[in-house]
Amino acid sequence: MATAERETKLYECEVKRRRVKSGGGYEPFWKTKTVADALMDADTEFRCKDCYGEVKLFKTHKAGGPAPHAEHKSRQDSEYCPSGMYFRKAADGREPRPSAHPVH
Ligand SMILES: [Zn+2]
Repeated sequence: MATAERETKLYECEVKRRRVKSGGGYEPFWKTKTVADALMDADTEFRCKDCYGEVKLFKTHKAGGPAPHAEHKSRQDSEYCPSGMYFRKAADGREPRPSAHPVH
């Protein structure tokens, strides 16, 4: 795998977890972890840690394939996320911005 290609993949994401709230009950919070850990822990809700947009997780299916990673579901997110593949390819000096449809 070329270095440039590796750098445009997301190897970390945020996963939604629950924690006990002071005063009782639970509250959701987002935790950053590696995509490999998220897959192993069977987390179900993910988002990009940089733009909070939806991401899809990819497992490694064969030896020598790309490591487990995440990709933006929305191309628009990828075009304006600082970690986005399209953002990094863009040569127009654009400013990053959060997802238009962030996951809460
Ligand atoms: Zn992003």
